[in-house]
Amino acid sequence: MVDFGLSEEQREIRAWVRTFVEREIMPLENEVLRREREGAAPGLNAEEVRGLRELARKSDFWGVQTPVEYGGMGLDAVTAAIIETELGRTFVTFKFGGEADNILFHANEEQKQRYLLPTIAGERRSCFAITEPGAGSDAKAIRTRAAKDGSQWVINGEKTFITGGCEADFAMVFAVTDPELGADGGVTCFLVDREAGWTSEPIDTMGERRPASLVFDDVRVPEANVLGEVGKGFQLAMQWIGKGRYLLPARALGGCERMLEMSIDYAKTRQTFGAPIAERQAIQWMIADSQTEIEALRLLVLNAAWQVDQGRDSRHAQSIAKLFGGVKANEIVDRMMQIHGGMGYTRELPIERWYRDLRLLRIFEGTDEIQRRTIARDLLKGRVKVGETLR
Ligand SMILES: Cc1cc2nc3c(=O)[nH]c(=O)nc-3n(C[C@H](O)[C@H](O)[C@H](O)COP(=O)(O)OP(=O)(O)OC[C@H]3O[C@@H](n4cnc5c(N)ncnc54)[C@H](O)[C@@H]3O)c2cc1C
Repeated sequence: MVDFGLSEEQREIRAWVRTFVEREIMPLENEVLRREREGAAPGLNAEEVRGLRELARKSDFWGVQTPVEYGGMGLDAVTAAIIETELGRTFVTFKFGGEADNILFHANEEQKQRYLLPTIAGERRSCFAITEPGAGSDAKAIRTRAAKDGSQWVINGEKTFITGGCEADFAMVFAVTDPELGADGGVTCFLVDREAGWTSEPIDTMGERRPASLVFDDVRVPEANVLGEVGKGFQLAMQWIGKGRYLLPARALGGCERMLEMSIDYAKTRQTFGAPIAERQAIQWMIADSQTEIEALRLLVLNAAWQVDQGRDSRHAQSIAKLFGGVKANEIVDRMMQIHGGMGYTRELPIERWYRDLRLLRIFEGTDEIQRRTIARDLLKGRVKVGETLR
């Protein structure tokens, strides 16, 4: 049986988030754009985020995918994708509170008290640090070294493009503990408090995100700060990256929906040569192509999320959703800018903002080329068979 319908609960949650976004976040959009035009830090400030999170919490909207025993909602991946799409309808980045990186749930009891629980509570912030100046797509090439000295590990190396690296209270750092084994049993994940002595510098980008470069210069951590097992860090890193890949195109989907709505409204009112541009076939085709791709993307995202919920190996489906989402969202935002003409190019409207932000989707958490590599490899090695992805 194939059922494309949402459950009653999913419909209710979607409606609740849509109302929250329309009532609480969209009214902040003009102010966010104004501040950015004046050179202020992009996005919401910490106080605004806190206020919105508390407001949501009063409606028990807290910890979307955090297990119920940790005070979260414990929602499934499909519902999380639906929520992410609704949040994506505004360009103002917002995440509900009560979340922690999936790999922190591998922490032992003592680490849970120091890292997991305070992160869920919003008292501490984490960052995920694997990328290095010499190792991005080829994450196995990391060189940051952790060497044992008595009961401590001494970390040396540099990480780059680390989201939240300037704000984080602790980093989940991936370092080589056995150079001979490398990623195959020789990489370990460490929980490293900022007080341990690592430094961070912001990296300016064309979009909202300001990732950081992190420097570890003889940073010492006790044995107790190994997350999981010594030598099993690379698997944890892949688990972090793989868990929520479908959420990235899910958010882009929401942005595309909103821009298409804006473009339809604009096309109906903008007159040229005595008629609304909506009457021109050139404009209608841009609208039709975008709607077609939006609907295809929705199905790919929901299918990838559904496979996660079924406990299947969802990597292939997630790669397809991420690749298609990245490519198509960038084509759609380009068309939506075209429909808006000169206005689309200004900073009065959010389209140029989306144009810059969506470009990242083709680069981080696996570039387009790396997704294609995964998809092709699965087929060439027979791990997935053509036409049998729904099996
Ligand atoms: C804003 C931002 C936030 C980020 N946040 C984080 C974070 O929080 N934590 C973290 O660890 N990292 C983070 N990253 C790093 C990100 O994951 C990497 O930038 C990404 O994986 C690509 O690596 P790279 O930049 O080194 O490019 P490279 O790997 O050097 O690739 C350069 C080009 O070569 C292509 N290429 C590489 N290998 C192949 C191949 N085998 N076949 C064909 N083409 C190939 C790539 O697709 C790309 O087009 C972030 C990056 C950005 C920009």
